[in-house]
Amino acid sequence: MATIEQVTGAEEVEWDLSDLYESPDDPKLEEEVAGAERDAAAFRVRYHGKVAELSATDLADAITVREEIESAVDRALTYAHLRFATNMADPPRGALVAKLQERGAAIETTLLFFALELASFDDEPADALLADPALEHWHHWLTSLRKYRPYLLSEQEERIMTEKGVSGSSSWSRLYSELLSAMRVTLDGEETSVDTALARLYSADREVRSAAAEAVTAGLEPGVRTRAFVFNTILLDKSIDDRLRGYPSWISSRNLGNEATDEAVQALIEAVVSRYEVARRYYRLKARLLGVDRLEFYDRFAPVAESSSKTSWDDARRVVVDAYADFSPHVGEIVDGFFDRNWIDGPIRPDKAGGAFCATTVPGVHPYVLMNYTGERRAVLTLAHELGHGLHGVLAQPLGLFNASCPLTTAETASVFGEALTFKRLLAAEDDPRRRLDLLTGRIEDAIATTFRQISMNRFEDAAHTERRSAGELAPERIGEIWLETQTALFGDAVGVDGYRTWWSYIPHFMSAPGYVYAYTYGYLFSLAIYRRYEQEGDALVDPYLELLRLGGSRTPEELAQVVGLDLTDPAIWSSGIDALAEDVDAAEQAAADIGLG
Ligand SMILES: [Zn+2]
Repeated sequence: MATIEQVTGAEEVEWDLSDLYESPDDPKLEEEVAGAERDAAAFRVRYHGKVAELSATDLADAITVREEIESAVDRALTYAHLRFATNMADPPRGALVAKLQERGAAIETTLLFFALELASFDDEPADALLADPALEHWHHWLTSLRKYRPYLLSEQEERIMTEKGVSGSSSWSRLYSELLSAMRVTLDGEETSVDTALARLYSADREVRSAAAEAVTAGLEPGVRTRAFVFNTILLDKSIDDRLRGYPSWISSRNLGNEATDEAVQALIEAVVSRYEVARRYYRLKARLLGVDRLEFYDRFAPVAESSSKTSWDDARRVVVDAYADFSPHVGEIVDGFFDRNWIDGPIRPDKAGGAFCATTVPGVHPYVLMNYTGERRAVLTLAHELGHGLHGVLAQPLGLFNASCPLTTAETASVFGEALTFKRLLAAEDDPRRRLDLLTGRIEDAIATTFRQISMNRFEDAAHTERRSAGELAPERIGEIWLETQTALFGDAVGVDGYRTWWSYIPHFMSAPGYVYAYTYGYLFSLAIYRRYEQEGDALVDPYLELLRLGGSRTPEELAQVVGLDLTDPAIWSSGIDALAEDVDAAEQAAADIGLG
């Protein structure tokens, strides 16, 4: 990454990793990992083939040891990852990550039998065990594991599935990414990658965007038959797996991994699809802001406002901490602690990892946040987002690694909530309609990308998987049709799609992780629904919300929702998150009218 000259005050903000280890040569690191290796070997000798015979107390002890082993490896690996993230060009840092990953994988293999044995023994003894108070702490962890039981095959069949899987869908998915990275797009007479061309869709100049889109469409054409074949093969492979295992639908295995019921996912999809008009309303407003008759698909990411003034690191800290403290002073203190105790790495630096993340559950220690702080308004909201993850980690950590870790569907609860708190605070402080519009459009576009866009892609996947199962191989033309049908269902007459037919074929998620995309929407709207409730009920929601965060991943999403009084199988709950988005669109239309652009 190139150095960017700017001063935000984040330049000196470095995290202190000594809470984990003093240095990569700290003898404690090697002791802990070697200890985990020894413990894993002893664990196998002691329990292999005997898990079904354990009493509730012995089983609880075994799970505790199992968690300790994983925590030790996780702690070392987190340290290695965090060090690597701040200087990716330093080979010894990368080597430490790779070495620990290998040792961690070997430990995992040694311990794999434990989960398999737990999942496979009969329901009757399992139910008796689960009812025993000695296993209360592990109840959710065990129940989630055992939900796979109806879909497991015999041990020999499982082994064949695992071995053949390496040359099955994962090979096809790899072929697809190799095809994608080899793809060339001609821009201004020069060959470039698809990603470089796609980046131009963020240009302020419509001609640049339109030329880039045309070049991508032309670049996608030559290999579309091959990519359609890869997609067909992945669809078929998944249908075979699902049939052999007895999953009722193409999405069921994904829902199981997300700890979401088919019912709640269906309610989510219905709620979002029935509100597509909210996105269209924004696209029409955006067309007016850009001064065009109608938005084309390549205009969706165009900037609408000139970039606004920068926020210093200290001001960002103040805004974010105040937003959290307004919600609850206790929460404000926790968030402020991240700054005081050097748990954040703030600036952009050469060779540092891009983007932002929070290492949420670092066993035995506290979360760490990585930022690439630029001072843009977006970056202030990103800081609020990552600190939400951090807050969640701090509150859930006492539960231990297994119970604190969340599936994708609830992992974004505190981050999206914290972003909403901060956004509202920024908006309330802004009178200038131009800057309000800038804030609102940024917020709305993020929301559309996380909700409507993901669900329209889920509709594409749903149609493709379902039709492949009933009608056999899908012709490339047919896949293109399904893509346009599901995308125009969202765009309506608000966005033109001329040239968009083959654009399904550059989205890696469809190949590498079928069914994945809806979880983004689930997590986002789950959190916004809680936020909505907070807006209505005020302080009465603070304690239940903190209780929800403290429960980490020790309950299913639906059980967690009940803690704050929400029923996720009710489409109205999902719709309430969209109401918040619709109000932002109202406010954006008002701000546009105020400056004569409405
Ligand atoms: Zn996040």
